[in-house]
Amino acid sequence: ANSDDEKMIEAHELLKKFYHHLLVNTKEGQEALDYLTGRGFDKETIDQFEIGYSLDSWDFAAKFLTKRGYSPEMMERAGLLVKKNNSDSYLDRFRNRVMFPILDHTGRTIAFSGRVLGKEQPKFLNSPETPIFNKSKVLYNFHQARVHIRKNQQAVLFEGFADVISAVRSNVPNAIATMGTSLTDAQAKIIKRNAGDVIICYDSDSAGLEATLRASRTLAAAGCKMRVAALPHGTDPDDYIRTHGAEKFRQDVIGASITLMAFKMQMFRKGKNLHDEGQRLQYIEDIVRELSLLDNPVEIELYLKQLSEEFSLSMDVLKSRVLDQKGSRQ
Ligand code: ATP
Ligand code: MN
Ligand code: MN
Ligand code: MN
Repeated sequence: ANSDDEKMIEAHELLKKFYHHLLVNTKEGQEALDYLTGRGFDKETIDQFEIGYSLDSWDFAAKFLTKRGYSPEMMERAGLLVKKNNSDSYLDRFRNRVMFPILDHTGRTIAFSGRVLGKEQPKFLNSPETPIFNKSKVLYNFHQARVHIRKNQQAVLFEGFADVISAVRSNVPNAIATMGTSLTDAQAKIIKRNAGDVIICYDSDSAGLEATLRASRTLAAAGCKMRVAALPHGTDPDDYIRTHGAEKFRQDVIGASITLMAFKMQMFRKGKNLHDEGQRLQYIEDIVRELSLLDNPVEIELYLKQLSEEFSLSMDVLKSRVLDQKGSRQ
């Protein structure tokens, strides 16, 4: 890495420590600390993830960094400051937010994500792409999770930072998340290099369910096997853990994860009345189409058997439908 990169990382490290200090030791940070405490983040958690608070000020970080010899131009390129329109002055990017430091795989701080304390928008503000931060290649908590991912040969993939943090605190140490975007090919490859198996544990809302299907395609393309951990509708893993506790999360969510195909079958079933002939046919066609995409004949047979039993259809008819579909795509 060149020396500009080193400087930018150094600035992130310094600011991270100061944000953390502001959160845990100062009057200015009290409201943010109360917010986190109210959400169930204890002292140990805040320390482990080095969570901080950025002051409600336009130039706190600008002054802090300049005083320590970092040029504002470089700090703008590092994503920490923004240049004010038509002027030479620089302002802080992050103001009055709970700060989650983003570390690279070696544990160096390369970016931040800041969450508002209340309901303002945007809820999260991330560092932009910079010479040291390429968000399509970074996975939140990968630095701490890596050893556990390798040991268990399994990663658990979440949507949000709070989900990862709650999972780790619930003894699911192989927890990682993307940066609020879809899982990328590069991220899937990183996962695949460390473990073949992934449990996708996204929010149980329509966005999360869609994202689960998208991530599953990306992971499959990278050669990963996956399962899906389903939550009650409308909740996310962090909510679930706060309500039901760590033990129940490990047993009833992570431990009860289902195959991707079973997950898809649940999705196809949703909102359909299977007593209605038309909707029943649609459901069966949805599954047949999905099965025709599989290569493993044992897996295909397994799900066809379920279908055949549930709807009293002959295996031969179902199998020929799957083969038709396979054939029509060649
Ligand atoms: P919280 O529990 O604090 O409300 P969350 O993690 O449940 O947060 P979601 O709305 O479920 O938040 O979003 C999941 C993830 O997507 C977030 O952790 C964040 O990384 C990302 N994200 C959400 N909103 C934004 C946004 N406006 N800009 C950038 N990233 C975002
Ligand atoms: Mn969500
Ligand atoms: Mn969420
Ligand atoms: Mn949440």
